[in-house]
Amino acid sequence: MEVLTTKINKKKLVHIDYLYYKQKNVKIGIRWVCVHKGLCDGSVTTDDGINFVLKFGDHHHKGNTDLINTERAKCIMKNAAKQNYDIPSRIFALNVIPLSNESRQLIPKEDSMKRTLRR
Ligand SMILES: [Zn+2]
Repeated sequence: MEVLTTKINKKKLVHIDYLYYKQKNVKIGIRWVCVHKGLCDGSVTTDDGINFVLKFGDHHHKGNTDLINTERAKCIMKNAAKQNYDIPSRIFALNVIPLSNESRQLIPKEDSMKRTLRR
């Protein structure tokens, strides 16, 4: 399991090949729902420390590693930009070039991504 932090307090969970949004805290831990919510009922409930899956609701589709790699790259780029490690075009180049073609197609166009990174 892997947690991606998109913004302050905005988390996404990667579990097997699926990506989830945090939905809410529940009595036994945290409930996460599939990013394709509305089309899919997939969900997981983890403990508060996000170490164990306590409940799992099945998906109506296959997992998508390309989507996960894209999300991970976007998070890394945003965090790198926030910490001013590098200029946006270098952050973009370093993180997008290693992705597969499929993942790269899911990344926003370079100009709009760079605009996001400058914020
Ligand atoms: Zn799903």
